Amino acid sequence: MHEDNVIDVTEADAGNGILYENKFKSADALITNIRHLPIAVFSADCVPVLLLDAKAGVIAAAHSGWRGTVRGIVGKTAGRMIQKYGCDPENIIAAIGPSIQEDCFEVGDDVAEIFMRKFGAETVVKYGERRHVSMQRAIVGQLTELGIPHGNIDDCGICTACNTDIFYSHRKMGNERGNQGAFIELI
Ligand SMILES: [Zn+2]
Repeated sequence: MHEDNVIDVTEADAGNGILYENKFKSADALITNIRHLPIAVFSADCVPVLLLDAKAGVIAAAHSGWRGTVRGIVGKTAGRMIQKYGCDPENIIAAIGPSIQEDCFEVGDDVAEIFMRKFGAETVVKYGERRHVSMQRAIVGQLTELGIPHGNIDDCGICTACNTDIFYSHRKMGNERGNQGAFIELI
């Protein structure tokens, strides 16, 4: 929904959005500590982020578009794992999936200004006269700010917009496209 609502998922939600219509009114991230209950996010340029604390037995899946990134959805999700589920930031590992990268993510000055202000100059890069932003760097910042070690974060660095032969990209394909799915399950 491009907002910042984090949903705690339990057995009662099994099949939601897959076997029957999605009953979550607004969800951009899911968290669960229930085993054998896979959770997923779908995206096509927005950033899918999977989080795991194997010690505490907690997983999360977040969808971070530029609006969600600005609202800090990934930091909010990891923060909830720490506060509500008792995860130790040192034990949380994160995977940042294929998504539109800085090279293809040209934005208007208004969006560039917001990233600059919230996440620092390193998230905004000039390509000639145009400004591009790196959602991925902003997300890494949200995670490290919580004490999650840099070495626990794997950013695959793959650009969906540069690789439309194998990925869907909203910017490149418009609405005539599918979605990537990112799944995680505690076993
Ligand atoms: Zn690209």
